[in-house]
Amino acid sequence: MSQVVIKTADEISLMRDASRIVIEVLDAMERAAGPGVSTWELERIAEELTARRGAKPAFKGYMGFPCCLCASINEEVVHGIPSKKRKLAEGDLLKLDFGVSIRGYFGDAARTVPIGKISEEARALVEGTQQALKVGIEQAVKGNRVGDIGFAVQRFAESKGYSVVRDFVGHGIGRELHEQPQVPNFGWPSTGMKLRPGITLAIEPMVNQGTHKVELLDDEWTAVTLDRKLSAHFEHTVLVTEDGPEILTRLP
Ligand code: MG
Repeated sequence: MSQVVIKTADEISLMRDASRIVIEVLDAMERAAGPGVSTWELERIAEELTARRGAKPAFKGYMGFPCCLCASINEEVVHGIPSKKRKLAEGDLLKLDFGVSIRGYFGDAARTVPIGKISEEARALVEGTQQALKVGIEQAVKGNRVGDIGFAVQRFAESKGYSVVRDFVGHGIGRELHEQPQVPNFGWPSTGMKLRPGITLAIEPMVNQGTHKVELLDDEWTAVTLDRKLSAHFEHTVLVTEDGPEILTRLP
């Protein structure tokens, strides 16, 4: 990865375009997701809508990943590969992670979608993870450091009795899908790179019910919790501005 990039207004404008497409595609997939629907059907939606908007899927081919969408269910943390054989069932926790580029600029977001009625425990995990992302984003302000984000995320998640995944982290984003700096969901305040206006980060807590440890399945992509308990994931592409964080992957 290269140096940290401070984006110009024109670059940010393109990142807004990419981010809006990411939201539209995630919304469409979320509407389509339900019991009996395969993750492959969601992949097809992602592929078609991305092409129709003149964008490119960011994940397909990245380090050899075979699809446009990462679809991970229940104990799967991230990087699940869409499959015709994998059908959603009532009570599942589906994590959709999706990114695109348009004219060379990237947006990336993830959300956890409950399928039908989910357990109280699962709902609490989803809400806790969403909240962890929110407190992390609140730290993405001028003058803070990257460690402030991770510290806030970790402290919040652990206060709810959950753990944060260490093996996968958030990242700078913009001209590339993954840029400097890395944005861990753990760490210490006042450490790491100082945040300046024009920095764009993908902040993405992966929060587990049990152990923070994960392992890879035989497909060499899908990461699952070591204890096979549930995991949830939310992600936004965020711009550091003079006046605080601005979430690019959210409609105004
Ligand atoms: Mg990401």
